[in-house]
Order: sequence, then structure tokens, then C-alpha cells
Amino acid sequence: RARADGHGVFRMFEADMDRKLRERRALEKDLRSALANGELFLHYQPQANVSGQIVGFEALLRWSHKQRGMIPPAEFIPLAEESGLIVPIGEWVLREACREAASWPNTIHIAVNLSPVQFRQGDLPGIVHSILLQSALDPTRLELEITESVLFDDLSRASSILRRLKSLGVKIALDDFGTGYSSLSYLQSFPFDKIKIDKSFVWMLQQNPQSAAIIRAIVGLGRDLSMHIVAEGVETIDQLSFLTKEGCSALQGYLIGRPYPIELYAKEVGKRAPTSSVASRRADGNS
Ligand code: C2E
Ligand code: MG
Ligand code: MG
Ligand code: MG
Repeated sequence: RARADGHGVFRMFEADMDRKLRERRALEKDLRSALANGELFLHYQPQANVSGQIVGFEALLRWSHKQRGMIPPAEFIPLAEESGLIVPIGEWVLREACREAASWPNTIHIAVNLSPVQFRQGDLPGIVHSILLQSALDPTRLELEITESVLFDDLSRASSILRRLKSLGVKIALDDFGTGYSSLSYLQSFPFDKIKIDKSFVWMLQQNPQSAAIIRAIVGLGRDLSMHIVAEGVETIDQLSFLTKEGCSALQGYLIGRPYPIELYAKEVGKRAPTSSVASRRADGNS
């Protein structure tokens, strides 16, 4: 039983820390083999223009752990970053997403998230270049999403890498905009193609009039800097109509579509859906 003088409480706290640390280590060890074991895969979340047409998909990494089931990215991405595993995993994500997108109509782009660690280690522009060649994907259809933290590390190094990436023809998007520290100053350090308004602002729209003002300001800023504005986390019709009225050029969120295996978006990407071929032939009435 814990003693009332605080030592016991501290010991319990220590034991808890110990357990958490051991769990992290175990999970990290499993992540090390997850790629080779085929436990990692991608979901694709659609992005629509203001007319409701699908213009792109964001690739989102998923981990189906053999024993523990699905582990959310918020849990395993930080682990992958701390251990450096995000470098080979991130390369796999890029290769897989580009290979997949190469088979879609060329009006549909693919967005891939990059970790700051991928900017610190290895030759990111070289890797992207060789993946583009291998997949034969038109570079203008690849959009790389970064967060402010990339620029936070080492601004001159990061912007030189970004410039090399841009010279390949790919697009660069600034993700989770508005959640970092000095968003505005970063906008002049690099010509981003896109700004993604963080979902927290979209979700606050109903309750909080300030978030409407913030969104308006971001859209205005984007317009003046010739950057497209995408809103993420769009879940309701009210949010959608506000965001389109204010001038967002694209929308992403559960209202448009959830992240799913690409087969579920077979119609949008011109693929045959593996399970619905009979159903669609029936619907067409030509069987
Ligand atoms: P993100 O890049 O900002 O991706 C958007 C996240 O918001 C995704 O979460 C998506 O499922 C979620 N989302 C989109 N629309 C809605 C909505 O309407 N409602 C709600 N409740 N959620 C919505 P997810 O898939 O859990 O990913 C979380 C984060 O993990 C991503 O945030 C990204 O930072 C990171 N991540 C995911 N895949 C990768 C990857 O391949 N590489 C790296 N470096 N990071 C990744
Ligand atoms: Mg993203
Ligand atoms: Mg985001
Ligand atoms: Mg993010």
C-alpha cells in the first residue's frame, strides 16, 4: 500500500513510467519488423474541389499489428520518428503511393506526408526523384505535405531541400497550418503551392466566431501569396458552405470521404472494384 508521505506515490509513478517505457520499446521493436511483415498499408482520403469533384487523395499510413490490431498514426509515427524508422517507412509510403497514383486519371493528384526526420537524414530529393522515375508518375501530380516543424529545425537546410524538391516539378503543401508557432514568417521563406488549414479551426467554426475570422485571414493570405487553400476535417454541410463561400479551393474531410483502402474509391480512380463487379454489371443491366 502506498504511504501517505509521498514516497509511495512517487514509487507508483516510477513503476508506471517504467511500464510505459517498456511498452514503447516493445512497440518500437514490432514496428521495426512491421514493414517486412506486411503490416503497414495505406488508406486514401479524397480531396474535392468546390464543385464536388475528386481532385486528389491523401495517402495515410496504417499499421495493423498482429496482436494489438490497428495502432493509430498518432501513436506509432512519433515512435517511428524517434527511432529513425520513419526514413525507410516514409520511403516505402512514397513509393507505394506513387505507384498507386500512376494508374489513376491524370487529373487526380496524390498527397504524401513527410516527416521532419526525412529532411534531416538521407537524400530526400534523390529518393523522390528515383521514385518518380520508377513509377513514371507525372511529378506535377505529386504533392508533398510538410509541417512547419520541418522549417523549424534548420531553415536554410530545409528550404534548400524544398527548392530541390520543387525543381523536380512536385508541389509542396504546408500541413496543419495555424497550429505551429510563427506560421506567418515561414510563408515568406518558401513559395508553398498550398496551405492546409488545420482541422481544429474548421471544427471550431460553429462555437467560435474567432475561428471564422482566422479562416478568412488565411484564405486572404493565400490569395495574396498565390497559394491554394485546402481545408481539412470538413464534417458538416455548414462547414463546407462557409469554406467554399470564403474561397477555399479544395476540401478534405469525412463529409467528402473517409480514409479507406483505394478499392473503395474504385469508381473515382477508374479501377475495377474487386467485390462489386457483379453488382455493377447488374446495375448496368448488360449481363
Ligand atoms: P494529417 O497529415 O494532418 O492528416 C489528416 C488527418 O486528419 C488524418 O488522420 C485523417 O484521417 C484525419 N481527418 C481527415 N478528415 C477528418 C474529419 O473530417 N474528421 C476527423 N475526425 N478526422 C479527419 P490520421 O490518418 O490518423 O493521421 C494522423 C497524422 O499522422 C497525419 O495528419 C500525419 O501528420 C501523420 N501521418 C499519417 N500518415 C503518415 C505518413 O505516411 N507519413 C508521415 N510522416 N506522417 C503520417
Ligand atoms: Mg497531411
Ligand atoms: Mg493536417
Ligand atoms: Mg500532420
